[in-house]
This record gives sequence, structure tokens and C-alpha cells, in this order.
Amino acid sequence: MKEQDCLRRFLFEELGVRGEWVRLQNSWQQAKQYQELSSGVQEQLGQAMASVVLLSATIKFEGAMILQAQGNGDLNTVVAHASHDRKVRGLARGNTQMEAASLSEMMGEGRLVITVEPEQGEPYQGIVKLEGEKLADVITNYFTQSEQLETKVWLFANETHAAGLFIQELPAQESYEADWERISTLANTVTKEEMLSLDCEEMLYRLFNEEKVRVYEPESIEFKCGCSSEKIETTLVSLGKKELDSIFLERDIIEVNCEFCGKHYDFDKVDIENLLSGKPIEKLSKTRH
Ligand SMILES: [Zn+2]
Repeated sequence: MKEQDCLRRFLFEELGVRGEWVRLQNSWQQAKQYQELSSGVQEQLGQAMASVVLLSATIKFEGAMILQAQGNGDLNTVVAHASHDRKVRGLARGNTQMEAASLSEMMGEGRLVITVEPEQGEPYQGIVKLEGEKLADVITNYFTQSEQLETKVWLFANETHAAGLFIQELPAQESYEADWERISTLANTVTKEEMLSLDCEEMLYRLFNEEKVRVYEPESIEFKCGCSSEKIETTLVSLGKKELDSIFLERDIIEVNCEFCGKHYDFDKVDIENLLSGKPIEKLSKTRH
């Protein structure tokens, strides 16, 4: 049995370096099934989804992490979400039929925004320029700028799998430079083929067989969209009465389709009037696939 849709953390106990490995299969298939994406665009989105799982697992929080790459290129947006309980979703916008090329060729100039939305408390954001051949370069830059800890990440994706490897110096116990250099040099020999096919422990053995590595229990990952009629209602209300009234001049129903999961939401004039006046609306018949 191959390990799929799972995250594994590991630790170089004697060196003060931690790591994570992730591979998505079913969750990746489900996340992209509502979108028509070329294999080149799938490579970018799959890498974004693998990385948001890796990054969300580096912090202790309850809520969602959103990784959003925005550029002025033909592929203008790539978004990936992960929750603390390892639910993922993602989408790409713009020319989603592009041929495979480097990140900067596909997305142009722009920025990568990483947002943490805790269930309690205010959201916070980190921003880094969208520069480099690949998303892994951008994320490595992000860590170089935002944390003083040495961090490296490798990301790979194709039409069937998305995978990532992450290593970071431990905050409390700084590793010796030579140890970090050795581990990151070894990790850097990892290939796409290994990441998309070998299980975590096999791969760790192949990369670091002379090191003592402790590998923690797998954590499973699932595709799940966090959309709901409540969230869409909040967005509609924020448009304001004037805007909503003008929409109803042209149609009888406001239809909203979730880009992540394909779910369909309808609101008629009465629903919207109730919403604006703060009355609850009947939700049972409002959603359908
Ligand atoms: Zn949805």
C-alpha cells in the first residue's frame, strides 16, 4: 500500500532539524475535478496545495491557511487552502490551458500572500514577491524574509499526485551550520519521481540513511470545501442594497457557483430582502449540486 493523502512529520533528533513530507492523490483529484486545467496549470496548482499543507502544519492554530499567488501573467491566480484538521481545496484562474513553463513565465510578476485565519482572533498575513522558477523558490524566500530559521521546500505535482518536502532548523536549538548544510544538500538530491512514488520512510531512508530520523504517525488529508450559504450571504450583504437591486433588474435569481467544489446556491428577491432586513432565510432548498 502506498501512502497517499497523508502528511508525515519527522525529526533529526541529534541535529536540531525538523521536516515534513506530504503526498496528495484522491484529495488532489477531487480538488481539481470542477476545473478544466492543462497539465502545466495542474503542476502549479498541485504544488500550491502540497505547500499549503506543509506550511499549515508548521504552526499550531485552529482555522484556515490560505496561500494565494497573484500575478500579471496569463495564469493570474492560484489559490490553495488548508485547515488545521488537514482539509484542502484549491483553484486556478486566468488562462488555465497554458502549457507547462516556469512559475514566472506562467504567472508574471506579482506576489504570494499567505494568510492565517484563526477561528478565534484576527487573521494575519505574510507577503513575498512572486519571483523564481518555481513556487518552492518563492516559499523559501518567504521563510528567509519572515523567520530567521533556515528553511527549504521542494514541491512536485503531475496530473495524478502532488507532493512536497520541507525541512527547517528548530527554533530552540540551532543546528550547526555544517549539519544544516549536509541535510539540505542531501534533501536537494530528491527527484520528482521519488517524491511522487516512494513512501515517506523509503524516501527518507534513500536521502538520509546515515542520519538518525524519527518519523511521526501519518496524518490523513481530505478534500473538503468550506463554502456555505451563510458565507455567501455575508458576501451578498456586503454588496449593499443598491447593487443587489440593480442585479434584480436584469434577472429573477442570483446564482452563485462555488469555484472550489461546484456547489450551486440560488437567491431570489425575497431571500435577498430577508437577508438585508436581517431575517433568516429558508435554506433547505437553496443549495444543489
Ligand atoms: Zn464550495
